[in-house]
Amino acid sequence: MKQSYDLIVAGGGPAGVAAAVAAARGGADTLLIEHTGCLGGMGTSGLVGAWCPFTDGKRLLHGGIGAEVVRRTTRQLACLESTEIPHGHIPFDPEYLKLVLDELVRSAGVQVLFHTVVAGAETEGRKLRRVTAANKSGIHKFEARCYIDCTGDGDLAGFAGAEFIEPQPDEETMPGSLCFVLSNIDSYSYTHVTRGTFGGNPASPIWTIMADPRYADIESMHLTSNLVGPATAAFNAGHLYFDATDPESVTQAMFQGRKLANRLTEALHDCGGAAFAAAHLAQTASLAGVRESRRIRGRYELTLADYRARRDFPDSIGRNCYYVDVHQGKHKQKQCRTYEGWQAYMREMPNADWNCGPGESHGIPFRILQPEKLDNLLVAGRCVCCDKAVFGSLRVMPNAFTTGEAAGTAAALMIRDNIDDSGKLNIEELRTELIQNGAIL
Ligand SMILES: Cc1cc2nc3c(=O)[nH]c(=O)nc-3n(C[C@H](O)[C@H](O)[C@H](O)COP(=O)(O)OP(=O)(O)OC[C@H]3O[C@@H](n4cnc5c(N)ncnc54)[C@H](O)[C@@H]3O)c2cc1C
Repeated sequence: MKQSYDLIVAGGGPAGVAAAVAAARGGADTLLIEHTGCLGGMGTSGLVGAWCPFTDGKRLLHGGIGAEVVRRTTRQLACLESTEIPHGHIPFDPEYLKLVLDELVRSAGVQVLFHTVVAGAETEGRKLRRVTAANKSGIHKFEARCYIDCTGDGDLAGFAGAEFIEPQPDEETMPGSLCFVLSNIDSYSYTHVTRGTFGGNPASPIWTIMADPRYADIESMHLTSNLVGPATAAFNAGHLYFDATDPESVTQAMFQGRKLANRLTEALHDCGGAAFAAAHLAQTASLAGVRESRRIRGRYELTLADYRARRDFPDSIGRNCYYVDVHQGKHKQKQCRTYEGWQAYMREMPNADWNCGPGESHGIPFRILQPEKLDNLLVAGRCVCCDKAVFGSLRVMPNAFTTGEAAGTAAALMIRDNIDDSGKLNIEELRTELIQNGAIL
């Protein structure tokens, strides 16, 4: 096993894959370290089977590697015949995504290490010098000129001494969910009778479940799903309250999540009509679905004011238009046990007038990928620097691809030009390179 690389990317979710592929295509000798046995993060091991919108309702907003992945995954779904990326959420098969990402990294020449966890870092002043990683053959030290943290939780940044944004005293962390897959559902009833399971439809089985005293232990009305294969639906359902950076807390969440997936399957048998009468719980996710954990303190904090002003930045490396999607806190679950209660809760949410209309978006500044106190480390994906409200929007997979590709492209330029501080990068050159590779700024 080689010990020294140009670039080390920690975490192979959407952000990590985009970062590693962009850097390798840009000529950097790149090691991608991933703790599970596949790439894709929440999209595969987490069983999140839908892309949030890649368009702003009028045009494509996330190009580059993210769009390439979406085109490759949707080609397998019979419902989409063209390579045009549709507006709105796009379902995909998490199992097929694994293969798409394997082919993507291998064709780019990225060196991947699965079943390897980044567990420490050594720094000298503002420079990250080495990462410690553990796997089957023991504890290893790897070194590189540049590093990108795509662990979702900012693990590498944390080990390297980066600061994180402190939560406000009354702030509630968004709940996670353990996603699961049901097979043997009746696709005709699912599509045309039940019309999916989302609570926005008053006929969703979730409202029957919420009203049924046998299922009083199912606390959350969160029940979204998509067809991701023949008679197969991926569920993003239930809410779990845990700390994603505390292994004991994550362990409890996995126990609770599997129990809840089984309870929801039983409830759907009883309350979901023909669509779910014979449904089989085929799989629960091997990774706990984490919506929110740590965000680094970067060289700029993207705020709600920026989002509302649809602000652009001289160092924009991509664009975002996803709505501010903040999941219910625990104390709101009781109110949301009926369709009317949930509607009232939605009306109370202040974000209705914040959200982007068709054709609207804001810039994503490069500075939110740069930890304030480290020069040769970038972050991408879920752990970038933004306030709580903007995080509700920025946290989804199209943005993870966009920030990942920008970080990887920046790292390749730093390596090519022998720069050891991302603050010294020529931002115009980075932007030009991104545009040439299909990014939309
Ligand atoms: C329940 C749920 C539903 C969601 N629904 C949607 C949706 O419908 N559409 C959408 O677009 N987005 C959705 N999201 C958001 C989105 O999936 C994530 O925010 C996104 O995947 C973040 O990408 P990422 O690459 O930053 O991190 P992740 O996808 O979390 O990937 C991080 C990767 O790093 C690895 N890793 C972590 N720590 C280490 C370490 N120390 N060493 C080595 N490897 C490590 C992990 O194994 C993982 O593969 C959802 C999220 C959740 C939790």
